[in-house]
Amino acid sequence: MQIATTIQEVRTQIKEWKKEGASVGFVPTMGYLHEGHGSLISRARAENDKVVVSIFVNPMQFGPGEDLESYPRDLEKDSAYCESLGADLIFHPEPSEMYTEGFCSYVDMSVLTEELCGLSRPVHFRGVCTVVNKLFNIVQPNRAYFGQKDAQQLAVIKRMVEDLNMDLEIIGCPIVREEDGLAKSSRNTYLSAQERQAALVLSQAVALGEKLAADGETDAKKIVGEMIALIEKEPMARIDYVKAVDGLTMQQIDTVKRPMLIALAVYVGKTRLIDNFMLS
Ligand code: AMP
Repeated sequence: MQIATTIQEVRTQIKEWKKEGASVGFVPTMGYLHEGHGSLISRARAENDKVVVSIFVNPMQFGPGEDLESYPRDLEKDSAYCESLGADLIFHPEPSEMYTEGFCSYVDMSVLTEELCGLSRPVHFRGVCTVVNKLFNIVQPNRAYFGQKDAQQLAVIKRMVEDLNMDLEIIGCPIVREEDGLAKSSRNTYLSAQERQAALVLSQAVALGEKLAADGETDAKKIVGEMIALIEKEPMARIDYVKAVDGLTMQQIDTVKRPMLIALAVYVGKTRLIDNFMLS
């Protein structure tokens, strides 16, 4: 497995692979990999001749006061994990490689990015769309893999690919959870033992919402209300949002429809965690 730090190295390798007629699967990440990322890499491994994983903590998608500096990093462990899953190349650039002096071009999306995480993280999706666009231009993948864990991000990337006629397939992969239900996340490492326990309220709220929908509840506001009531019972949890939205446009809805996304962001202590379920 190769580890590339420059765009040129990646381009040279990709050109060689394309000459051989190889298909390329791509998994963009911020590193500190866990089995959630692993599920994306394994799926890419199964469906493509070559697999590229990017590990880049993208400064552009962090707002002021967010956890850019403290975001966990462990390239050595990540490399061993990628290799064990059969990845062919890791792209691990420095921010200065991705954003050269004078950088001033961005991919900005409206509508989908104005709800949910876009409200509390106003610069986030501009950073995500811009870096993903750049990474697609560098890696030229046939398929790219994203987790349903970041459901809004997945919807945004699919929309961007359609709107801007990008020639690749976006594949969404299911949420991977810890045994007790907590969605795996690099940010779970911030949680103290007590917060880790309290964080279970997110997946419990998701399970409750899913059950209500499965039992035929058609009032989305009622489902959301019951989820909020459950979370509010946990003293260490502070809700950022719990919302039911159209699964494609991310616009708020009051009545259950398909596809529908119910998404939540909750602070446990200082750590902001997200979870969701989709009715499709
Ligand atoms: P990140 O490193 O957090 O930017 O995540 C990189 C990719 O892994 C994104 O497409 C995430 O949605 C996906 N991912 C992160 N956690 C999980 C999880 N628990 N299950 C499935 N996919 C995940």
